[in-house]
Amino acid sequence: MVAHQSPISWVKPPLASGAQAHLIVLATGAAMPYATPAGYTFTMVQKDWTCNEDIDIWLYGSTPSEADGGSLELIATPGISPGGDNIYINPVYTYTSLTFDPLSSYSHSWDIVVVNRGAGNMEGGIVFAVIMEAIGTPPLPDKKQCQCPFCHHLQTVKVGTTVIVCENCGKTYYVQDFSRIREL
Ligand SMILES: [Zn+2]
Repeated sequence: MVAHQSPISWVKPPLASGAQAHLIVLATGAAMPYATPAGYTFTMVQKDWTCNEDIDIWLYGSTPSEADGGSLELIATPGISPGGDNIYINPVYTYTSLTFDPLSSYSHSWDIVVVNRGAGNMEGGIVFAVIMEAIGTPPLPDKKQCQCPFCHHLQTVKVGTTVIVCENCGKTYYVQDFSRIREL
């Protein structure tokens, strides 16, 4: 049998019944585990998949990372689904390195493994999105300059402000607050 090959680094051959595979890091094309250095948090913010066979998805972590002498331990089962399900979740309370390492003192390894529990070859897609954030990342500015839609006066307010009374013309106007959105 000729192995399937694709220039798309995360496209792999169908997974045989009973077989397991590591997820691919989309930014590098390398199979997990993925290591995060000390000084960074690692937080899962999205998971989605659809497959034509029943699947288990397993999450493993290591504190410190394998390279620093740790070993991967099972953390959770972020998904068990029958074939044909289409799952899309943005967790509010989710898996984060802060559970194991509140001060981010250690490096970590992370691994996500899918197992084909179905009878046939599995096809489909699985995506987990995570935020890696440096401890001590400078916060966004705590002020912003807004412009009155009536008199065009520029006024500096706290960054989270949405209701502004113009200090020039006295009218009230409204803006949006994006200061709590983090980079993905
Ligand atoms: Zn004004």
